[in-house]
Parts: sequence; C-alpha cells; structure tokens
Amino acid sequence: MIIDSHCHLVSSKFPEEEIPSLIKRAHDNGVTQLVTLATHLGDCAQNLTIAEAYETVFTCVAIHPCDVIDSTDAFIPALRDFAKHEKCVAIGETGLDYFHPAPEGWTEQKYHQRQRDFLEQHFALAAELGKNIVIHTRDKKGTASLDDALLIYAKWADRVQAVFHCFLGPLENATRIFDLGGLISFTAISTFKSANDCSKAAADAPIGSFMLETDSPYLAPAPHRGKRCEPAYLKKTAEHIAHLRNETIEELCNHTTQTTRKFYNI
Ligand SMILES: [Zn+2]
Repeated sequence: MIIDSHCHLVSSKFPEEEIPSLIKRAHDNGVTQLVTLATHLGDCAQNLTIAEAYETVFTCVAIHPCDVIDSTDAFIPALRDFAKHEKCVAIGETGLDYFHPAPEGWTEQKYHQRQRDFLEQHFALAAELGKNIVIHTRDKKGTASLDDALLIYAKWADRVQAVFHCFLGPLENATRIFDLGGLISFTAISTFKSANDCSKAAADAPIGSFMLETDSPYLAPAPHRGKRCEPAYLKKTAEHIAHLRNETIEELCNHTTQTTRKFYNI
C-alpha cells in the first residue's frame, strides 16, 4: 500500500482512454491512492473530473512556474473555484523554476519575479482555504530557487505546510525545509546510479519527513528509465528506497502513507 503523492494524469502522454487502465495498473502494483496535479488553469477541470470519477484519486490545482507567462495576471478567482472542490487536497504545482531560460521577450529577472509573485499568491490562497501547498524548485546550479522559495515560505509557514517535491538532495538542503515545518518527496531519481546526493538523502531522511511520488509521466525508474513513467512504477522506487534505508517495504510504505495522508488530509 503506497500513495503516489505527485503525478500528472492530465498529460498528453496519457491518452484519456488509457486513464482507467493506468489507474488499474497502479492499484494492481500496490499504489492505493494517487494525487494528480494541475499545472495551469486549462487542466484543472480535467484533473477534477478524474478525481471525481475515482474514489482513490485526489487532485491539486495551481499554475506551474513554467506556465506563469501564459497565465492571466488575475488567475486567483478561477483557481479558487477549482480549489474549493472537496477532491482538491492542496494547492500545487506552484514554485520557482530558474532552470529553464526566460521565454522570448522576457528577462530572467522579470520572469523569475513573476514566478515569485505567483508563488506568493498561491500561498495566500492556500492559507485562505486552509490547504497545504506543493512546491517545485529547480536551478541550473546552486540553490537560488530553493533559497527564494524558502524566503516566501517562511512568511506563511505558521499557516501552510509545504512539500518541496522531487527533492534531489543533499539532505542539508532539506534541513532548511524541515526547520519551517515542511516536507520533501522523492521520485525515481533516487534509484539512478548517478544521483548520489538524492539516494543518500532518501536513505537518511527522518521518518515522517518525506513522501514518495512518480511525477509521472516524467522520471521513470530503472529498468524503464528514459521511457514514459506511470504511477504503477512507484513500487520500484519504493523497493529501492526501502533497501537504501534498511527498512522492509511494509515499513517504508506504512510511514510514507501516514505522512502523505496527513499532509493532504486524505
Ligand atoms: Zn510535477
């Protein structure tokens, strides 16, 4: 029994007609619940429709940092309507992406500022609705996006809990998240031989501080690496992390499931 705490079922990589078998394969592989995250206003309704159709599927709604340019400035009223739905269990995926270059006509400075403005507004909405938040940070090198996201999180940490998803390590970076009461989550990157910081962080992270996720359709674990990922593959990541931690798969699943249920209130 594991929960895929972060996937994107409304991806063009998952044809609509495949959703029932995709969810069935997840269940057949011990993934009992799934959280599918929207990335812009245009896919919130579809995510909610899937969550309404399946008792085991929940959703989060937000504007992804890579989608802030295409979004209207006044996105909050529409997002609020989606977020009030009972199957919407958090605000996400929002955050800061300093990895991808600024789109044409935008300076990096302006692009990143818009992402920070959006992140701040997402926190305000989360606080208003009493929901937690799912944050993406990514840098070419260094930790500028994490540093900036933590500065914003610090202002809201007494009201909203954040998960910094797809955590890459090292664990020292997570201590700053934990200090604010936040969580991290691990993808299949923890199973990649080249990702030492990530697998070491997955081995050492305290019980109760982290969740498991696929981030599918991205980041397939070995032996599917480079191909389309899907929620059923979470089992492979869980087996790998349990091994790294010297835990049984049951122990790992038990505590990560508890952490995830508490975070999303499911
Ligand atoms: Zn994601």
